[in-house]
Amino acid sequence: MSDKDIINKEYKEKLKKKIKEQLKKELVEEIFQELKLEEDELTSEISTIIKNKPQPKIKESNVEPGVEITPPEFVEKEKNLFISVQAILKIASHALKYAHSKIPKHKWVEVIGLLAGYMDYENKVLYIEDAYPMGHGSAIYAEIKDYKNFVRAFNDIKKNNLFICGWYHSHPSYGTFMSDEDIGTQTRYQKLWKKAVALVIDPYEIDGTSLGFEIYRANLETREWFPLSFDIKGDLDVRMLPEILAFMNPIIEGKPAYLEYDEL
Ligand SMILES: [Zn+2]
Repeated sequence: MSDKDIINKEYKEKLKKKIKEQLKKELVEEIFQELKLEEDELTSEISTIIKNKPQPKIKESNVEPGVEITPPEFVEKEKNLFISVQAILKIASHALKYAHSKIPKHKWVEVIGLLAGYMDYENKVLYIEDAYPMGHGSAIYAEIKDYKNFVRAFNDIKKNNLFICGWYHSHPSYGTFMSDEDIGTQTRYQKLWKKAVALVIDPYEIDGTSLGFEIYRANLETREWFPLSFDIKGDLDVRMLPEILAFMNPIIEGKPAYLEYDEL
């Protein structure tokens, strides 16, 4: 190899290296631009998702905006709560039994009962299957007075392969919020089962657009209520509910749904 050849070869190597570096730089630049573009797309995609996600309404809480104090078990991801049509109809008719139009409003009282359900642990979904009416109380407070009845209901629920997953009570005509007294009751249920839920129904909110109830869970430490989003298990059109309950009215009042003319 002549000196010239050596210089040539060296020059070639240098040139190659330079070209490689240039290519590398260009490639990195290209990848960088692509990633940036994707990131922009992703950012707008995510912000669209966030924008369209219905914001949970937090009632009766003093959470400052931007302050995340909700423990993970209270944070909802997907629909993980379902309630059956049977439970809805039982609860609504129980609430109306002690607060219907033929009873003077000042004599309306609250009702209370148990929620029976089962848990799909794999998918972390709770199904409220049935409601067990327990009793009724003073105008603004209902409690299960007899522990023996609780035990009886507990055994009946167990026989049906369900468990007590919470409780319900009514607020006839004064709304589906949860009160401070209700925290006391909820504490007992959440101590029995951490994920126990509380359903509150105002049958006078059932108007064809609303089911008239909300389901909550509480943070026992901060004594705050968190509304849970839920779905109906089975087919029930909310628009049908007032008509169904109107048809059930005689039964709710302790009379037959209808009589034949022969029976009159
Ligand atoms: Zn209450």
